[in-house]
Amino acid sequence: MDPAQTEMSSRNRRWSLQGMTALVTGGTRGIGHAIVEELAAFGATVHTCSRNQKELDEILQGWKSKGFKVSGSVCDVSSRPQRTQLMDTVSSLFDGKLNILVNNAGTAMLKRTEEYTVEDVSFIMGTNFESAYHLSQLGYPLLKASGRGSIVFISSVAGVLALPNVSIYAASKGAMNQVTRNLACEWAEDNIRVNTIAPWVINTSLVGKARADPSLEEKQKRTISRTPICRMGEPNEVSSLVAFLCFPAASYIIGQVICVDGGYSVTG
Ligand code: NDP
Repeated sequence: MDPAQTEMSSRNRRWSLQGMTALVTGGTRGIGHAIVEELAAFGATVHTCSRNQKELDEILQGWKSKGFKVSGSVCDVSSRPQRTQLMDTVSSLFDGKLNILVNNAGTAMLKRTEEYTVEDVSFIMGTNFESAYHLSQLGYPLLKASGRGSIVFISSVAGVLALPNVSIYAASKGAMNQVTRNLACEWAEDNIRVNTIAPWVINTSLVGKARADPSLEEKQKRTISRTPICRMGEPNEVSSLVAFLCFPAASYIIGQVICVDGGYSVTG
């Protein structure tokens, strides 16, 4: 091989997920769906989960027909026993080794702080934060065994800036942003890199629900008009960064919370 070809193939290996294994939670819609496709397109073998068996089966079939190496199982990530079962499944599928864990599944709830019930608080914290934290704990031995592990949390700009009517959602995402730094420092010696992506408004069913409410639709329009790029983001504008953070090319990026937000967080 001539030197130019050798250089090119070494670069290609740094920008590839060939031979890697991944678990992406909440892969049937929105951002998670785009992440599964992105990782699989770069060569990873991906397992995903959601709560709806029928939808999951249909989506898996579509991916398999495109030639993606994907599988999936039903799991409600807010359930501790189901999370344990999910990681057991992943461990047996991938021989006890995992390169990539993307903690994406999550939910939102808009209320004034004085209106949140005890149940709301434990639902949001359980689904968004506790699930991601526990899956990272469960995934740790598998990520370590792979020799090159990467965790990506999907947080939110709401966990970075103070926004109205999302205090408990913001707390669940802010907690994620902080543990990113803790886990990154603890697990760097195990060759596991931990990073977080904090998206702003992304065009998914989660945001679609808000559009169905006329009072929220107006607010959403105002929010978009204050975003420098003047539009929502698309799921593949988040998934491309997930793939990059998992590439060997990102080997020196550790403990970062990166906003994908059309410039919203820099407007002050
Ligand atoms: P969607 O509602 O469009 O998709 C969520 C996905 O997660 C679905 O596949 C859903 O499947 C699955 N899911 C939801 N709850 C659970 C659960 N308890 N257990 C397992 N799977 C679950 O959401 P988005 O794609 O918009 O959001 C993905 C992540 O991005 C979330 O963490 C969200 O907080 C974050 N985010 C989104 C933003 C946006 O503007 N869209 C902005 C900032 C952050 P099913 O319901 O069938 O289980």
